[in-house]
Amino acid sequence: MSAAIIDGAAISKSILAELKTEVQELQQSHAVVPGLVTILVGDNPASLSYVTRKVRTALELGFHEVQENCDADISEKDLLALVERYNQDSSIHGILVQLPLPDHIDEKKVIYAIDPDKDVDGFHPVNIGRLLLGGDEVRFPPCTPAGIQELIVRAGVELEGAEVVVVGRSNIVGKPIANMLLQKNPRANATVTVVHTRTRDLAAHCRRADILIVAAGVAGLVKPEWINPGCCVIDVGVNRVGEKISSKTGKPVAILRGDVDFDAAKEIAGSITPVPGGVGPMTITMLMKNTLASCRARL
Ligand code: NAP
Repeated sequence: MSAAIIDGAAISKSILAELKTEVQELQQSHAVVPGLVTILVGDNPASLSYVTRKVRTALELGFHEVQENCDADISEKDLLALVERYNQDSSIHGILVQLPLPDHIDEKKVIYAIDPDKDVDGFHPVNIGRLLLGGDEVRFPPCTPAGIQELIVRAGVELEGAEVVVVGRSNIVGKPIANMLLQKNPRANATVTVVHTRTRDLAAHCRRADILIVAAGVAGLVKPEWINPGCCVIDVGVNRVGEKISSKTGKPVAILRGDVDFDAAKEIAGSITPVPGGVGPMTITMLMKNTLASCRARL
């Protein structure tokens, strides 16, 4: 039997509709709207495309959105001063610095300069610490892991006591999602294993997963025979494997593949996210959710 497809685009749309209603209520009750500043340095096409989508979504929700597009040669000092300006701006509840930054700027310094209470990406060490502590301490769960957790919960997949295997241990996906799912709360309570390039038998670990989360960045890494029949597969990977001409625009667009062989895996798994249209749309949605939460926290 074919797996249920976890439609991240549809789930994301319904969360955004919920957020929009909350923004309107907040505006009526407190005459305030969430404020987000997006800081882009240079004109890297991928970064520009991500920022454009973030700005568009924020505006659709009725946020106060400020766009800062800086020249690629902005000095580190000036960028830090810009961040500090928005740390002090009470109309701004979320500061997003689009990564990566040019080589002459120390990314760490810039992330550490963001007020942790406005760090809606959840990358500041203070917020990573809060995430590790769990419970009421958590302020801004990082957006991609938060999106993954939301997809699992909304798809009705049981997390309590589940064997979760996470492929990848990056600071932005693998480590935080592993930490989030082992917390003591009803949206977690899983038994989590994290595997990586030094793991002895990747296939054996994957085969016993009730929930398999793959964030390696290697197209087709997970083979169909590694999948536990009936399990939930969350494919975070986004790999450009070629180009095609878009039937809508007539322009070349990237062909994207996940880390899992989707066509074969969907015949074995119980549920699975597609690439694109799975985890991807959730990341921006969770950024908006964090910005709204930050605004509420200020009230
Ligand atoms: P990353 O920083 O490159 O980390 C990849 C992790 O996977 C590393 O821990 C690495 O292990 C592990 N890995 C790589 N190849 C492996 C292999 N053959 N066997 C076992 N483990 C392997 O990547 P990332 O930033 O976490 O991103 C992962 C993927 O998710 C990428 O395709 C990225 O584009 C995608 N992504 C998507 C979104 C979204 O919104 N949809 C957001 C973020 C990332 P080592 O630590 O041992 O090197």
